[in-house]
Amino acid sequence: MTKSALITGITGQDGSYLSELLLKKGYKVFGLERRHSTKNTWRIDHIKDKIELIEGDLTDETSLRSAIKTSEPDEIYNLAAQSSAVASFKHPVYTAEVNAIGTLKLLEAVRASGDSIKLYQASTSDLYGKIQQKPQNELTPFHPVTPYGVAKLFAYWSIVNYRETYGLFAVNGILFNHESPRRGLEFVSRKITNAVAKIHLGKKKDELVLGNIDSKKDWGFSGDYVEAMWLLLQHKDPVDLVIASGQQHSVRDICKYAFEAVGIENWEAHVTTSKEFIRPADADNLVGDASKARELLGWKPKTTFKQLIKLMVDVDIEYEKQGISRI
Ligand code: NAP
Repeated sequence: MTKSALITGITGQDGSYLSELLLKKGYKVFGLERRHSTKNTWRIDHIKDKIELIEGDLTDETSLRSAIKTSEPDEIYNLAAQSSAVASFKHPVYTAEVNAIGTLKLLEAVRASGDSIKLYQASTSDLYGKIQQKPQNELTPFHPVTPYGVAKLFAYWSIVNYRETYGLFAVNGILFNHESPRRGLEFVSRKITNAVAKIHLGKKKDELVLGNIDSKKDWGFSGDYVEAMWLLLQHKDPVDLVIASGQQHSVRDICKYAFEAVGIENWEAHVTTSKEFIRPADADNLVGDASKARELLGWKPKTTFKQLIKLMVDVDIEYEKQGISRI
């Protein structure tokens, strides 16, 4: 029988790759779409005839109940979020309303439906924040350092709580950073690859201003990571798992590989740093241990860091040539 999935955050980076994956697997795909005065669907325009969008908002429980009624999902992937840790310092209350309380509203809507729906929650390595252990795995204590991380921690425990209290099949994928050509421009990886594309095409002066270029994270490719989301919901038991590449790279490394991709070796000549882009606090020493995901799901990343950065630069060059805004 055809399975049905409801994706919140379908217009985002991961939502678009996950939609493609689920369509390939024969799912009927529904997506929760926020109302905007201007459409924001460029990441899913190429598959819009194959998916069904339902208007709704994570902060509006009525719309969540209605979306569940319409889509009758076997699986829900909760990817919707105010997803920027940087923005969460400016909008801490809003971030909590969407990322924390919004997730709780979704859990309540699933519980109220009475249906046996499997629920995936987009948890994050930002839960580790001020790291207590390296590399970080499922047993590493959490210590978020951003309002984004704190809100996601509430959501994490709400998922565990509903699983333990009501027997819901609800799981956390603790995903480390993952990027792609569909990453929002405010994120550092895409900021760099987009600037490099513009510099390469002569559209931008040789100036790329960044914050802490020594910040180290574990970066993978979104297209690989959405497969782990799906595998988590196919596992016989609901488990929370770390999904990561296991490799740590700095922002410097992104610069190096991005400029290298267009034949520029001396990247330092094109980059300056400014306090303006230094975060009040950051989870800046992350590296994940995804060995449990490998053991239980057979998951491992396919794309290397270097391949990822080159892919992003190549696609950004194409976007820039087409002159279409991909933010
Ligand atoms: P993204 O590109 O920023 O997408 C976020 C999505 O959430 C967008 O579709 C956005 O819709 C939607 N959204 C925001 N507020 C909403 C609301 N109130 N109601 C309904 N939808 C709302 O993020 P992403 O990179 O795909 O990440 C997906 C999820 O994984 C997020 O929860 C993120 O926090 C989490 N995560 C991401 C990473 C990463 O490195 N990418 C790592 C760990 C966890 P609009 O298009 O209307 O704005």
